[in-house]
Amino acid sequence: MERIFWVECPNCSTRWYADWQMRTAKHDMVCPHCSKEFPVDEAAWIDERDRP
Ligand SMILES: [Zn+2]
Repeated sequence: MERIFWVECPNCSTRWYADWQMRTAKHDMVCPHCSKEFPVDEAAWIDERDRP
């Protein structure tokens, strides 16, 4: 199983999980609810548990 992490949108507080590669990559996260793009380090909340 690939590692994942949970993230919370700083705009609408939606939480979802993404592939661990997104945690370390320089790509912006894209909220599935409001489509806001933001650097992962600006997430309102991050949970680095390794299972959904
Ligand atoms: Zn959002």
